Amino acid sequence: MSFESLGLSHNIISSVKQLGYLKPFPIQEQGIPVILSGKDMMGVAQTGSGKTACFVMPILEKLQAEVVQRDRNIEVLILVPTRELAIQIDEVFRAFTTNLKREVRTMAVYGGVSINPQMKGMLGVEVLTATPGRLLDLINSKALSIGQIQHLVIDEADKMFQMGFEDELKQLFALMPKKKQTTLFSATLNDKIAEINKILAIDPIVIEIDSEDVHIDHIEQIAYHVTSETKGPFLRYLIKENKMNQVLVFVSSTRTADKLVDKLIKNKIRALSIHGQKSQGNRRDHLDYFKKGDVQVLVATDLIGRGIHIDALPVVINFELPRSPLDYVHRIGRTGRAHDTGLAITLLTDEDLQHFGVIQKKMGKSVEIKPTNEVNLHGY
Ligand code: AMP
Repeated sequence: MSFESLGLSHNIISSVKQLGYLKPFPIQEQGIPVILSGKDMMGVAQTGSGKTACFVMPILEKLQAEVVQRDRNIEVLILVPTRELAIQIDEVFRAFTTNLKREVRTMAVYGGVSINPQMKGMLGVEVLTATPGRLLDLINSKALSIGQIQHLVIDEADKMFQMGFEDELKQLFALMPKKKQTTLFSATLNDKIAEINKILAIDPIVIEIDSEDVHIDHIEQIAYHVTSETKGPFLRYLIKENKMNQVLVFVSSTRTADKLVDKLIKNKIRALSIHGQKSQGNRRDHLDYFKKGDVQVLVATDLIGRGIHIDALPVVINFELPRSPLDYVHRIGRTGRAHDTGLAITLLTDEDLQHFGVIQKKMGKSVEIKPTNEVNLHGY
């Protein structure tokens, strides 16, 4: 199956080539024709499946053929749970707008930064990627209107509810026109997702992509049995002994993230953290430094467990085990993306062993747990 056979024009295909995509991923193969046909769709797919390009390509394909007025009415609205995801999706839109028949303006808006530049930049924007709270603020300030949108995309719908955006979503839905195309993505299906479909009065075509199809098979998973005392030294041992130059370390809380970074720096390992209590600018900078290879270790909470792409990230370490099996999959999915291979290491104390059993069962894969009591941690 080729991109051409999905009904995409050469304007989009030339961007596909520039990005180096050789053939469509399963979600794209199945989803692009549905979106092009104008039908509502729900993709049950994990991050890393290629879902962003799955909606970006057909949306731009259709939009480029339209004559649109330069005003404050948005044509295409993408709702996302986090600022990072908003920025990332807008980047994908930009990558695909370069070769279109006409100029299409896109923008990402999110909280935690000044609203004024966003208000000023809104005129003529056709594709807006937004987090719900900031979008409502902008609408209330009359910076834009979603009253005439043609296409609504809700990305990571399940995460939206987990993060408590239910009220904002309902307010936003009430401001949208009844007639529009809706595309929804969620990693899981639950009652809340069914409720969205009811509120929006849609009966979407459901495309389910098995998480096995995504990339978990490309990830080598190892777990080490440690104690709470040896955990820190063992992490430093792993990083130093294996000369790890780019490793994403996951922890469960902001406090642990900051404490861990202090310890790593004291041990001459270049590290930064990224979590919800950092300012937006700070988070973006830290992620940039890490992507560029200026820092060796990025310590993150689950805030960036989803949706963030770091090119060819070789290693992810779970310093603390997440509670949800889905978060575990999302975390380790930061490596091995787009069919690269990757390594995911998990550190387990006695208290984690039972829960790790549950995670392995849910994931449908068993992971070898190696002892560490023979490892000489002296000097770490
Ligand atoms: P996503 O699930 O949208 O976050 O995409 C995961 C990664 O896969 C991104 O880095 C995309 O650039 C990449 N990607 C998406 N579609 C393709 C494709 N057809 N071929 C190769 N890489 C792709």
